[in-house]
Amino acid sequence: MDSRRILVTGGAGYIGSQTVRLLLEQGHDVTVVDNLSKGYRHNVPAGRLFELNIADTAALAGLMRRMRPQAVIHFAAFIAVGESMREPARYFTNNLGGSLSLLTAMVETGVRHMVFSSTAAVYGDPPSSPILETFPIKAVNPYGESKVMVETLLRWFDEIHRLTSVSLRYFNASGADPAGHLGEEHDPETHLIPLLFRAILTGQPITVFGADYPTPDGTCVRDYIHVDDLAQAHILSLEYLLNGGASDQFNVGTGAGHTVLEMIKVVEEVTGKKVPYVIGPRREGDSPSLVADPSKLRSRLAWQPRYGDLKTIIEHAWKFASSHSK
Ligand code: UDP
Repeated sequence: MDSRRILVTGGAGYIGSQTVRLLLEQGHDVTVVDNLSKGYRHNVPAGRLFELNIADTAALAGLMRRMRPQAVIHFAAFIAVGESMREPARYFTNNLGGSLSLLTAMVETGVRHMVFSSTAAVYGDPPSSPILETFPIKAVNPYGESKVMVETLLRWFDEIHRLTSVSLRYFNASGADPAGHLGEEHDPETHLIPLLFRAILTGQPITVFGADYPTPDGTCVRDYIHVDDLAQAHILSLEYLLNGGASDQFNVGTGAGHTVLEMIKVVEEVTGKKVPYVIGPRREGDSPSLVADPSKLRSRLAWQPRYGDLKTIIEHAWKFASSHSK
């Protein structure tokens, strides 16, 4: 693909920084916008980071006039399901309000394409598994609802302003860059794999959120996708839009589901250590099972996962976690 000028919001975060790394490796000119409320300066190569809040429409528009990006990849958002059940307003303000501000700046400056970080949480409790893009949209927590609302905004911005977009509905992003430099370091950490490592490293047991779900062993089933394969899906989406592709939505997952107890077993195999854990109550807002049918992404955008195997995902994540533990 030709070299492109791309603006990335949330490029200092977990998935954003991996995508920035891949874009740069593939010869693109990348500008990152991040207010560092969740992301880290050390995740972005020097000179590429603009510390801005995406709610600041005027500042974004100014930056876009200077940089003239051909497209935006929009990651910046809050992501914790549990927190969104306690503080819904923060999720709507940041995720919906921030996206509206960004879209406003794009229309004002003539930037016509967006790749958007959506989520499998838009499907809520799906009627069956694996999940197709045509399944009903019905979020069961404010985090998922905020992403549904942005997908709705995108439909109207296409209809009215001819701004085309791809919404990528992520399943569970996991793993680290194969070289071990970039990885998951949320604060506070809420995600399963880093918390399993933490339990190993500190000896403090992790709580498994519920063992009475209608799943093979009673714990929740998720589809864990390598962050590098997820990042590559953004670059394919970008190329698709820049070549005139119409707005669309794609699941990004592997198609394989794993329970929390299975994850514990694989983590123990990879690390050679026991994971201390206790069974606790369900976490509010959790769906019993979220597994992608990724065939649309494979067939329309020729996406092919490089690291589909769960063991490889956990090996890369462990390489990062064990060399960056505090
Ligand atoms: N989970 C758990 N204990 C934890 C964190 C997560 O049992 O301390 C479970 C959670 O209920 C879900 C799965 O692990 O079924 C993945 O959760 P995560 O927060 O990583 O991602 P989500 O599925 O919410 O996007």
